Amino acid sequence: MSSVYEGPVQTLIDELGRLPGIGPKSAQRIAFYLLKTDVQDARRLARAIEDAKDKVTWCRRCYNISQGEYCNFCRDERRDAHIVCVVEEPRDIVAIERTGEFPGRYHVLQGAISPIEGVGPEQLRVKELLARIGDEDITEVILATNPNIEGEATAMYLARLLKPIGLKVTRIASGLPVGGDLEYADEVTLGRALEGRREVDA
Ligand SMILES: [Zn+2]
Repeated sequence: MSSVYEGPVQTLIDELGRLPGIGPKSAQRIAFYLLKTDVQDARRLARAIEDAKDKVTWCRRCYNISQGEYCNFCRDERRDAHIVCVVEEPRDIVAIERTGEFPGRYHVLQGAISPIEGVGPEQLRVKELLARIGDEDITEVILATNPNIEGEATAMYLARLLKPIGLKVTRIASGLPVGGDLEYADEVTLGRALEGRREVDA
């Protein structure tokens, strides 16, 4: 986009335009909204971003967002450490937790395999997952990647990697809308998909 505005206004528009899902027009709209808004409100937003960046890191075990070395789920002794649910993003954990059906721990890949976007297994937390299987007494891995092309490709890749180790590898059942995202599935559908998970033939 050409630089129509000067200095700080253009910088703000450029920075907003780098956010996911924000095109040039939205970036402009948000920038002007922020310029009109109360200075306190704008400062609060800036502080919230700074605070989140300063205080939130990745869990050392599962790569969920965390405020300490380990996230809430990894710190919770009541959770079953033998069963690990593999998801693409931290927000997918929220979706699965809403079902109330999962007693185990998580592993966040931080993405999915996507040749078009140049994302391969090396860009994901795959070797960290393999390390966990070596270190922790994991007996079942549930592949809960999204039911779209990238998610399915990722699940197949992981199944081929994990099955020979002798683990039980399951995939959440169909019934989820194909091409969709876990985070948009209602908790009843997702709960059933989790309950009806099947072993993967790889
Ligand atoms: Zn964790």
